Amino acid sequence: MARKLNKQDALDYHANGKPGKIEVIPTKNTKTQWDLSLAYSPGVAEPCKEIHADVENVYKYTAKGNLVAVISNGTAVLGLGDIGPEASKPVMEGKGVLFKIFADIDVFDIELNSRNVDEFVQVVKALEPTFGGINLEDIKSPECFAIEERLRQELKIPIMHDDQHGTAIISSAALLNALELVKKKIEKAKFVINGAGAAAMACVKLYVALGAKPENFIMFDKDGVLNKARTDLDAMKQVFATSSKATNLTEALKGADVFVGLSVGNVVTAEMVKLMAKHPIVFAMANPDPEIPYETAISARPDIIMATGRSDYPNQVNNVLGFPYIFRGALDVRATQINEEMKLAAVRALAELAKSPVPDIVNLAYNEKNIVFGPTYIIPKPLDPRLLSTVAPAVAKAAMDSGVATAPITDWEGYKDVLNK
Ligand code: NAP
Ligand code: MG
Repeated sequence: MARKLNKQDALDYHANGKPGKIEVIPTKNTKTQWDLSLAYSPGVAEPCKEIHADVENVYKYTAKGNLVAVISNGTAVLGLGDIGPEASKPVMEGKGVLFKIFADIDVFDIELNSRNVDEFVQVVKALEPTFGGINLEDIKSPECFAIEERLRQELKIPIMHDDQHGTAIISSAALLNALELVKKKIEKAKFVINGAGAAAMACVKLYVALGAKPENFIMFDKDGVLNKARTDLDAMKQVFATSSKATNLTEALKGADVFVGLSVGNVVTAEMVKLMAKHPIVFAMANPDPEIPYETAISARPDIIMATGRSDYPNQVNNVLGFPYIFRGALDVRATQINEEMKLAAVRALAELAKSPVPDIVNLAYNEKNIVFGPTYIIPKPLDPRLLSTVAPAVAKAAMDSGVATAPITDWEGYKDVLNK
């Protein structure tokens, strides 16, 4: 049984010892006067001069190439909402911990007191010399779209807003495998998407890149279905407006193959799920409470494939399956961006990994005997040690094939060995 987490446990964890969860540690010898004269003045002047002569040397003589900025302004934190930059810091430090333990990437978490798109972009642009990559995090929509787009265009280091693309990548892998299990083609699948925010829009775009047909989507925001009759939709939402006559979730779900929830908890009922097509796929990903409780959905439809954002049920759609490895691959070929090809490569690598036999170490980690590909295991488990050496090379290779890698890998076996160490 999973241990029940209480408030005091969580507060003590963060406050005990050194406050927070992460610190900076030197990587070179620093014991003697000799060491210090190399680490700082006068020795440090030599790498400075080399970098001044050729700026690419910054990757050779500094930590830039393995350093990612996790940047937030605290406007859309977890399910907590707009709680401000200081209150977002535990999350950003936590993200730093995950980058480190899963992909050995160092993180500086940066919480910006800025709600203005121009100012935010300007600050992050000025930080470019320090970092090998930038993970934008928990920035509310619609500002997150403009911020990411502008930074993608204006910076030469890889950038990803994880709340959008991480979710899209992981849920796409789950979707491909779920469709395969129920023998449905993505081109024919009918989708209902509840939520039209950062995560939902990125998901739909990636599902379409994988072959889904835009006309097969019905999308909802908190005011109802996005259709052509709505006059209140901004330009982003208009793209997703349907010509379907459905006016509510019940009507939309009739005969639907896939439900994707990226909205709020408990807005879908057992009756609605009963209306879906044979072998329905339901990804109810609102956190912490899914759009429909797991047990309710499963008992309404024994033929369902169900995923949630929660770790206490099968098929957890968790972004930690993606960002550490996507950035690892991008950094290792010094990609100038994280592009569509790299995202699709991550999707396919994750989907394939779930179909390959699960090593004992993963069964042990989850206290299970025999995890096998099927309706209750459609995506890899976060503690699967194969993720690093599977997803990172796939992303690195896609960066090379799509022409955004500036330091291509030639020895792939050697690269995988390094990752496996
Ligand atoms: P967001 O940008 O704030 O978007 C939320 C969207 O939900 C908005 O479009 C909002 O409508 C819509 N909404 C709110 N109440 C609704 C209702 N009753 N019916 C239909 N739509 C409703 O947030 P986000 O980052 O996309 O995240 C959305 C949810 O997904 C959150 O619960 C988050 O925790 C979860 N999520 C889970 C994962 C995961 O499991 N891995 C990853 C990312 C996000 P308006 O546009 O009209 O405001
Ligand atoms: Mg987030």
